[in-house]
Amino acid sequence: MTPTPASEYISGSGQDVEADFLPFHRPSVSEDDIDAVAAALRSGWLTHGPLCRQFESEFAESVGAARAVSVSSCTAAMHLSLVALGIGPGDEVITTPLTFSATGQVIEHVGAKLVLADIDPSSLQIDPKEIERRLTPRTAAILPVHYGGFPCEMSSILEIAHSASIPVVEDAAHAQGAAIGANRIGSIGSATAFSFYATKNITTGEGGMISTDDHDLADRLESLRLHGMSKDAWLRYTRRGTWGYDVVEPGFKANFTDFQAALGLSQLKREAEMRERRTFIAERYSSAFGELFDLLEVPHAAEDVTPAWHLYPLRLKRRLAQSLPRDDFIKALTVQGIGTSVHFIPIHLLSHFRRRYGYTGGEFPRAEDVFERIISLPLYPLMRDSDVERVIEAVTTIAAAASRP
Ligand SMILES: *Cc1c(COP(=O)(O)O)cnc(C)c1O
Repeated sequence: MTPTPASEYISGSGQDVEADFLPFHRPSVSEDDIDAVAAALRSGWLTHGPLCRQFESEFAESVGAARAVSVSSCTAAMHLSLVALGIGPGDEVITTPLTFSATGQVIEHVGAKLVLADIDPSSLQIDPKEIERRLTPRTAAILPVHYGGFPCEMSSILEIAHSASIPVVEDAAHAQGAAIGANRIGSIGSATAFSFYATKNITTGEGGMISTDDHDLADRLESLRLHGMSKDAWLRYTRRGTWGYDVVEPGFKANFTDFQAALGLSQLKREAEMRERRTFIAERYSSAFGELFDLLEVPHAAEDVTPAWHLYPLRLKRRLAQSLPRDDFIKALTVQGIGTSVHFIPIHLLSHFRRRYGYTGGEFPRAEDVFERIISLPLYPLMRDSDVERVIEAVTTIAAAASRP
């Protein structure tokens, strides 16, 4: 049997994607990735074990942090970080409305109150001035999201947190490999949460990681991810271990597995190379769409920043959106065989948060305005140059046709 080239692997039900349809995302899974997972499966150790430890140590090194703790998802990473930092009922945590629901939900999981601060419309990131406006004596943490893989204004956020003596937990689900100057995301806040979900920059199918320089925090996270046990199974079931253990608190079941870690280790080796390809595609998009600057607004990173280019959030300018609303633009792209997505429905517009906090829409006008006009274009290493040109051709043709009087 001839091996299938990696480019033929498509996640989920993607195998029946039509040949002429360019999906919004396809994960890069190489033959080396597959061999690494197969070797882990053959090793006889499936759950948390030596490969998790190795992945944690290589990951920590890659983001410039002292420690990294692997968990089952980025959602668990944020949740456990808040628990470990002692955040709970009576506390408020500030985050952005332009994020995935999980960022808001973890705040509620610890019994704290979600407080939203609107975005800066040019960067699409949480606006530090809005954070300041929302601070109260109950504010117990700030949870900024590096939306799209473009780093937040961390120096202002850290300054605010420092004067309020509260921690910063970063949602870096999009931001692996991003940096501000020489400071890599993962080495900046009190704890940083990463995602290895199937669509993220590196993937293990599902999975997450917390990086931190605080050894006590890392030790507590290691206990919290596995039932609050005083030592993990790997140490109990090997020659080095003994059967005894204690449970010191009501912990969670959020550990990672060795066969996922095998995939993570293999993907981590290609992280910089894959990010380079993302950057190349993003720059190609920006130079092409830059010519239609009266119709389209391209994403751009602040100076001195290395973006992870997780997303390519293209904005229709108001004039264009008036003649061709965002949803119709997406439909036109679908007709041309191009998959897209929208990141995100601002979370205060989702039923749960409306009900719980009484939001009716209009509370965060900048996030709402951006949401109305934004489209995420396909951006992933498996895209061929011809795919990139096809997206450019379709976007420019649709935009130009819609703008003609
Ligand atoms: C994907 C994502 C998450 C959740 O990651 P999981 O690993 O699926 O839990 C959290 N925040 C943002 C911004 C995301 O895009």
